[in-house]
Amino acid sequence: MKIILLGSPGAGKGTVAKQLKEHDGAVHISTGDILRGEVKAGSDLGKEAKGHMDSGGLVPDSLIMSMMEKRLLEPDCQKGFIFDGFPRTIPQAEELDKMLAKNDIKLDLVANIDVSKEIVLDRLTTRRTCSNSDCQAIYNVKSMPSKVEGVCDKCGSPTVQRADETVEAISARLEAYNELTAPLAEYYTKSGLLKNVQSTESKEVIAQILAAL
Ligand code: AMP
Repeated sequence: MKIILLGSPGAGKGTVAKQLKEHDGAVHISTGDILRGEVKAGSDLGKEAKGHMDSGGLVPDSLIMSMMEKRLLEPDCQKGFIFDGFPRTIPQAEELDKMLAKNDIKLDLVANIDVSKEIVLDRLTTRRTCSNSDCQAIYNVKSMPSKVEGVCDKCGSPTVQRADETVEAISARLEAYNELTAPLAEYYTKSGLLKNVQSTESKEVIAQILAAL
């Protein structure tokens, strides 16, 4: 499958992508995960991205596009990909369209996971993420805690609250989403690729996506 997952921060894109990739070996590409890896590694890209990320703003389109152009051409993407958190602006979507056309790649679907603001806020403030950048498993202190508090079930690394999960940063992220990312739903409706999915259950979201493919 070659799909894009749209949806606000906390809509469940990461959880859905991690489960969905088991279906046909498509790679899960999360620009947020790649950027957090770059920040941790202290690369030039990481240094430029960190301030934007910590404050809840978006990293400039030019940095994202050069990062994604390289990623899309890596051999593992040939099996298929699930984009999570990309594209996030209309200019990114337009550039992606050009990149895909140039490489003769066709998208199968853009799934827009639509979850209420109340649920999103609750999820983001109670989310914990594995601090190991190769793992990044997601937990929730209320609905999906790790077996041992503060320790990842999968790799044993500490689980942490992300720097961009403070109330201020969450508000900025939701604002950036409403202003810059939400218009993508209309963009992909026009190209006939959009499927709206309204559910808070990842199993149900996955079932609807697989049925639409
Ligand atoms: P996420 O894990 O998808 O919520 O992304 C975390 C942060 O990384 C976002 O708040 C942005 O600062 C940055 N980011 C991730 N993906 C993008 C993107 N496609 N364009 C711009 N910034 C991004």
